[in-house]
Amino acid sequence: MSSSPLLNELIEALRCLPGVGAKSAQRMAFHVLERDRAGAKRLAERLTTAVDRIGNCERCRTFSEERICSLCSNAARDRSILCVVETPVDQIAIEQATGFRGHYYVLLGRLSPLDGLGAKELGIDALANRLAEGEVSELIIATNPTVEGEATAHLLSQVAREAGVRATRLAHGVPLGGELEFIDRGTLAHAFGGRQTLTD
Ligand SMILES: [Zn+2]
Repeated sequence: MSSSPLLNELIEALRCLPGVGAKSAQRMAFHVLERDRAGAKRLAERLTTAVDRIGNCERCRTFSEERICSLCSNAARDRSILCVVETPVDQIAIEQATGFRGHYYVLLGRLSPLDGLGAKELGIDALANRLAEGEVSELIIATNPTVEGEATAHLLSQVAREAGVRATRLAHGVPLGGELEFIDRGTLAHAFGGRQTLTD
């Protein structure tokens, strides 16, 4: 605790960031006061603007300051393929790593009853309505391969089946550059079970 109540409040507020404990928060607070007040002012303004103005796209639920995000309103993208991800970060990862040109649906979470996250919170109804529009022919389920992610994938595949839409799931396997002896058993078993025919 310092002798300045305002400084104490700043340190406490910084702890809302993930991975920032008491020590890191203290270091950050001292850093901005000692060395970068202008940067801190800019950060404060950006934080306020972002929190006030960024909402969620009405169509895909990703973060957006527009009612419909730029990706959803991009006419060049393929509306027949819809990729479901847990978070906007997952969406960005797929965008950067693949040549995917379809649309996304962001759940903003995964099924987790203990955290109060059910079908309603994940926007499953809106997704079902979207599939019922008839435009989507493939639903790519890109939830994480965790217990909760798998439960979510199961629910999504049911929604797709009810709408008569083909559901696909990301393959699980051996990481590129990895060596079999160092790969965990679950991943290796999945990769082995999901082996594919080599074609030439
Ligand atoms: Zn969108």
